[in-house]
Amino acid sequence: MEKIVIIGGGAGGLELATDLGDRLGKHNKAQITLIDKNSYHLWKPLLHEVATGVLDEQVDNIYYASQGQQHYFQFTQGTFTDLDRDHKQIKITDINNQTDTIDYDILVVAIGSTSNDFGTPGVKEHCIFLDDQNAAIKLRETLVSKFTRFCSIIDDKDSTEQEKIRIAIVGGGATGVELASELPHMVETFGACGRNKMCSDLLDVSVIEATDRILPALPETTALSITKTLESRGIHVLTKTMITKAESDGFYPKDGQTIKADIMIWTAGVKAPDYLKEIAGLESSRSNQLVVKPTLQTTRDDSIFVIGDCAYAMQESGRASPPTAQAAHQMAKICYENIVNLLNNQPLKSFKYTDNGTIISLHDTAQGVIKLGGKSEMSVKGWFALIIHRLLYRMHQASLLGIFKTIRFARASKFMYKTKSTSIFSNRD
Ligand SMILES: Cc1cc2nc3c(=O)[nH]c(=O)nc-3n(C[C@H](O)[C@H](O)[C@H](O)COP(=O)(O)OP(=O)(O)OC[C@H]3O[C@@H](n4cnc5c(N)ncnc54)[C@H](O)[C@@H]3O)c2cc1C
Repeated sequence: MEKIVIIGGGAGGLELATDLGDRLGKHNKAQITLIDKNSYHLWKPLLHEVATGVLDEQVDNIYYASQGQQHYFQFTQGTFTDLDRDHKQIKITDINNQTDTIDYDILVVAIGSTSNDFGTPGVKEHCIFLDDQNAAIKLRETLVSKFTRFCSIIDDKDSTEQEKIRIAIVGGGATGVELASELPHMVETFGACGRNKMCSDLLDVSVIEATDRILPALPETTALSITKTLESRGIHVLTKTMITKAESDGFYPKDGQTIKADIMIWTAGVKAPDYLKEIAGLESSRSNQLVVKPTLQTTRDDSIFVIGDCAYAMQESGRASPPTAQAAHQMAKICYENIVNLLNNQPLKSFKYTDNGTIISLHDTAQGVIKLGGKSEMSVKGWFALIIHRLLYRMHQASLLGIFKTIRFARASKFMYKTKSTSIFSNRD
């Protein structure tokens, strides 16, 4: 039986494992194995909500082992470390820190991306990156601990410490903007948990962007409108501000004064992990992504497919498909069809990225554009945009769990938000 190994159970990899399991694993036509360094999946576009306590990772996660049991794939928890193409084997480090070797006939690399600090000095040492669920939980703990400490400063009338909590976020893309817009609400919720003096006025949040505007994926008018929304909530948007260094007290721009910060967050771009660069002689891009043919097979090895953020898939437009959940989902669907076709000696399909638009959530509202049929563009704003934004997540969930379970998840999530988001903040002091 063919052994299909998928490394990475994220936005692309878990959808693929589920589809292949249902189609091939169920009928013993292939053995599907999913490998991930974590034991559960959490949709990455929601990480800023985990970091700010809006979303409970205990409710909205999907355990790989349980998903595999229901969809006919095996799950192995471990970190992928190396590839041996001659012997068709990968190496992983398992949860006991032991090295293990896994054979494959077809390999799919879907390990996503990590933050790119572009070699900026001090960023690795002083900044928090929103790369995975562990980082999001760590950021939440850092924020809560800072808020708690700040409460004691407010109570101490003799204190000479600063009067605001300064949070600086570098990167005016979707991640930075969505995270910034949740922070005032997070402080208000924290204040509602018995710290009456805490309110969003005590927060000093900056979104720092090197180019002349935030959100380059959106039309300029939409980006400007979102800038106004952020500013109306007291968030500073600093454009044309190139950060050249980070130190423990804040960010140092190329021109102008130091941007002092108590919490420094870096969301200024992504790259594939460094160890992927030319791994086992495969062709890679400047951002360490593995270069793939239209079929999503690597240019130098047809038995290896790559999907999602770590794939460099050139499009007819002359640009590679973007590192988004939307692209990862579309790649997973084509990869699924191509693996089935490969096993049946049928011709493979070409991946063509369709941009269906971008919507940015701004806590209680959202704004962006949707592209009907990938072409004509329509601006959306307010509750309608917020519903579409939420629907994107529920559609991902539905592709993994089916409609009925997704509805149950949505109900549980709403209920837990009301009860748990306050408990995240109230059991500390
Ligand atoms: C805060 C935030 C907001 C975002 N908002 C949007 C949005 O609104 N719309 C949108 O389209 N995109 C958005 N994105 C981008 C989107 O999340 C990614 O493009 C998408 O998740 C990529 O999917 P993927 O399958 O390639 O990788 P991921 O979803 O990142 O999954 C990678 C998986 O690989 C695993 N893994 C990594 N390394 C290893 C290893 N060495 N060994 C084993 N397993 C490993 C990880 O644990 C993870 O499960 C956002 C991202 C962030 C951080």
